[in-house]
Amino acid sequence: MDRRRFLLTLAAGLAVAATGHGAVTGTRAGQGGPDPGPAEPLAADPVEAAVEAPAGPLPPPTGVVTALPGEGNGLALTIDDGTSSEVVAAFVALAVDTGVRLTFFPNGCYRSWEENAVALRPLVESGQVAFGNHTWSHPDLTTLPDARVAEEIARNRDFLRTTFGVGTPFFRPPFGAHDERTDRIAADLGHPTIAMWNGTLGDSRVLTGAELVGYAREWFTAQTIVVGHANHRTVTTVYGELLDLIAQRDLRTVTLADVWAVPPPPFQGVAATGLVRG
Ligand SMILES: [Zn+2]
Repeated sequence: MDRRRFLLTLAAGLAVAATGHGAVTGTRAGQGGPDPGPAEPLAADPVEAAVEAPAGPLPPPTGVVTALPGEGNGLALTIDDGTSSEVVAAFVALAVDTGVRLTFFPNGCYRSWEENAVALRPLVESGQVAFGNHTWSHPDLTTLPDARVAEEIARNRDFLRTTFGVGTPFFRPPFGAHDERTDRIAADLGHPTIAMWNGTLGDSRVLTGAELVGYAREWFTAQTIVVGHANHRTVTTVYGELLDLIAQRDLRTVTLADVWAVPPPPFQGVAATGLVRG
């Protein structure tokens, strides 16, 4: 019927205008209908599709990024280290259950990544999960000579490629400790983008659930890159609260690869330099 078609058209229009003047369009169009009634479930699909569509992606920048670029309601949840296989598994389950988009920065020295690789691979293939390099064993790179820095980065790069089949332009230095020298070595090894953060779950140490949710209240804001860790169980006990915050604030989770495109496969074959092994 015409009215149904009209509502679908209206929904599509609102979806397109969702980040702009949707309210104006909606008001004007709504005046024509005799009985607006309760919203039809049909309207949800086009809107949802528009919300899920990544805005970018842009080419990965060379240099340091600390926030998502431009306007929007993106929230990049980036999860580091992975000292606990149980916590990595919980994040994987969260992603599967809720559709939350995550960027992991693993240290390949922890068994958690291989132990969860089978569950992670489909999420990687669909793009719901992306990766960045965080070094093999989490040293302070600024204290190491060039060759050791390169070894830490290249070994983990190769681990990510072997385990998940992906390359990544993103590098996050352990402890956030980096300088021009370490940035240059990372870039030489295929990671031009130094992915820092401007929000945190505070969970590099053990927190109570309430403390962790307090950090989330402070930092879950639009266009923020939030750092968290797959190390301690606390975060897994407050997923519900974190999701509530994301919904209440109308935030949209994005991976760093949704925002800055990961180069296509040729990139992944570049520089299997043999700098590392063992
Ligand atoms: Zn770390």
